[in-house]
Amino acid sequence: MVATVLVGMLCTHLMCFSVMFWLVSKRLHGKKMGMNFFAMGNLLLGCAYVLQLAEGGPAWSLMSVVNHSLTLASPVAYWLGAMRFFGHSVPLWRPLLAVAALYSAAQVLVQWSLGPVARYAMLSGMSALLFLAMVVTVVYGVRTFAKDLYAEMVFFALLITGICALNAFKFMKLMHGGLDALRMDGSFQVVFYIYMTSLATVLPPSIIWLVLRRLTDELRGIAARDPMTQLLNRRGLTEALQLYFNSRKAVPAHLLMLDVDHFKRINDTYGHHIGDTVLCHVAEVLRGAVRRGDLAGRIGGEEFLVICLDSDMQGVSHLAERLRSAIETQAIAATDWGPPLHCTVTIGISSPFSGAEALEAAMREADEALYRGKAAGRNRTEWAGHALIS
Ligand code: GH3
Ligand code: MG
Ligand code: MG
Repeated sequence: MVATVLVGMLCTHLMCFSVMFWLVSKRLHGKKMGMNFFAMGNLLLGCAYVLQLAEGGPAWSLMSVVNHSLTLASPVAYWLGAMRFFGHSVPLWRPLLAVAALYSAAQVLVQWSLGPVARYAMLSGMSALLFLAMVVTVVYGVRTFAKDLYAEMVFFALLITGICALNAFKFMKLMHGGLDALRMDGSFQVVFYIYMTSLATVLPPSIIWLVLRRLTDELRGIAARDPMTQLLNRRGLTEALQLYFNSRKAVPAHLLMLDVDHFKRINDTYGHHIGDTVLCHVAEVLRGAVRRGDLAGRIGGEEFLVICLDSDMQGVSHLAERLRSAIETQAIAATDWGPPLHCTVTIGISSPFSGAEALEAAMREADEALYRGKAAGRNRTEWAGHALIS
């Protein structure tokens, strides 16, 4: 009776969360993060348990064959959903239909050749193997593709290990004690369904949490970057600076403000979209030339910032010169028809500053130096409060 009530609760959980996963997937336009696959996994398992309740006990019937195939297909759907979540483009229907068809055929074969105990043992054995493979994949993920989700992955690995162990135990009980192991009032079945019900309650909110984490991380990334060049925007630069200056090892930073010379001419001569290509090219040069740990950003039309962390005046001068000369010398293949374009930048450098709140003042200083550089003929580097350097 207890086990029957637990299976009833399990069905309710699975179906409710299936609907929830499906609703979430509908809200996620384009990239659904595997939510529709998880909805399918829950639906398949929910249907399998409904069939089990309808059957009452072990039997050789079409309903039982369908029940076993659905039970085995559901972890496959979860697995495919997890692959989707981690960005792999895998199909859903073909693998599921293949698993269901192959496993139905295998059931008929095993039932006729080895009998009913072997068919039930096969389900437990196959489930245990599938869950074991999942645990291995999750542990591998912790070290490779899911490093940022360490705690969550360990939690999933522990939960799946539990269900893997229970299936392995059920397999052994069936092999030793026959179909008696499946008695609904037996203590093992009660423990099995308590665990499954707990899993069906804990896992879906955890999956929703993963999706929430990924979405908020993505949104934070989008909010911190300039959409055209993918360099940091002002907000991203401020946040990165706050992070840097919060560390105890932080030393004063220097700010370089770069402005493309006569950019309006480029726009007027070649068109706005070629102007955009030039801006992306400058961004690429900055990305390639700054040291690891330095920050590069775009703060407006054709104005860029580079913030040198942990560098002295000489290092900053060298970097500024390297940037100026790289932009001057590198040709931009912006059109199919004309010769490659060239552009130059003028760079203003601030004096050293500490703290993210000093960014505004450093920008004003660099801007003032930049203005002097423009007045002095452009394509040059100028320090705040210093004589012309190049
Ligand atoms: P200077 O050497 O004094 O800096 O001259 P300039 O022509 O570069 O400066 P100005 O400020 O007169 O012109 C900047 C131009 O940049 C004007 C504006 O239309 C253009 N602009 C601003 N944002 C974008 C953008 O996102 N894409 C493109 N293609 N042009 C932009
Ligand atoms: Mg400008
Ligand atoms: Mg300009």
